[in-house]
Amino acid sequence: MPTYAIIKQKQGRRMCLFCKIVNKEITANIELENENFLAFHDINPKAPTHILAIPKIHVDSFNEVTPETMAGMTEFIQEVAKRVNIDKSGYRIITNIGENGGQEVKHLHFHILGGAKLKWGHFSDADPKDFL
Ligand code: AMP
Repeated sequence: MPTYAIIKQKQGRRMCLFCKIVNKEITANIELENENFLAFHDINPKAPTHILAIPKIHVDSFNEVTPETMAGMTEFIQEVAKRVNIDKSGYRIITNIGENGGQEVKHLHFHILGGAKLKWGHFSDADPKDFL
């Protein structure tokens, strides 16, 4: 982890769950790691391949992320997809933001889902017809 990330996390609030995974205080099934990003398998997978990609520095959600971090994240997710061999067959990236988005862990993460033909069904709870 970059030194500035450790300093920021120690000076700031209590470390969140994913910061603890970054710091190896909590174990995770890590798929790929570089200086700035970490990818690990979701503990409760919703697809045959379900990986979470996070920045090592704490960012609450997509609302706060910088374009610079997203540039690195884009390359990192592409590398993860190739590594687990879902780049050609296809996959889905999701990031949940805030309460209505269903974000449970308040550390920016991208769900990378693949390994099977995914249904669109899990978005049916937000069918606009239900809100007319
Ligand atoms: P979200 O609802 O978008 O905030 O997603 C949080 C995700 O983190 C869920 O899919 C959880 O299954 C996953 N998760 C929670 N704790 C862990 C953990 N210790 N290791 C791996 N994945 C986790």
